[in-house]
Amino acid sequence: MGEESRDKRDCSTRLGVLSSHLLPPPSMASEKEAALAAVPSDSPTIFDKIINKEIPSNVVYEDDKVLAFRDISPQAPTHILIIPKVKDGLTGLSKAEERHCEILGYLLYTAKLVAKQEGLEDGFRIVINDGPKGCQSVYHLHIHLIGGRQMNWPPG
Ligand code: AMP
Repeated sequence: MGEESRDKRDCSTRLGVLSSHLLPPPSMASEKEAALAAVPSDSPTIFDKIINKEIPSNVVYEDDKVLAFRDISPQAPTHILIIPKVKDGLTGLSKAEERHCEILGYLLYTAKLVAKQEGLEDGFRIVINDGPKGCQSVYHLHIHLIGGRQMNWPPG
């Protein structure tokens, strides 16, 4: 490789690294747009179609209470959504009532099981987005299980 083309390659690598630190990835911007466009409601969502197998999803864990499937727009090498099969008013965490304590605990415990199943021994992140300011786009409570890369803090 000539010196000039090596310089160009080094330069574009540096620019790529710089922009990846300064700019949100394209999917992150559209996630925010989707969240701001979403209307909070208790109507059925796309997750009901996934639960009822009306649309395909990549399921990694399922039992009678919860379903875990890969996010269609992964933000990390592992990005899984864990949802209650029966929504029971839990459009988001802010709608939780005392009767939901059992399923909320079960969702978190399932996240731990799935993290182990996915080999995330070195750590992972759990996220629950709530409402427009929390960047929630689907109004059926879900836990994001994210891992397989180093996380940053604070989150955006
Ligand atoms: P949130 O923004 O917290 O409401 O998260 C909703 C998530 O659902 C986003 O990360 C989307 O990428 C994901 N999502 C939307 N539709 C699907 C789908 N059909 N299959 C898998 N994940 C989906």
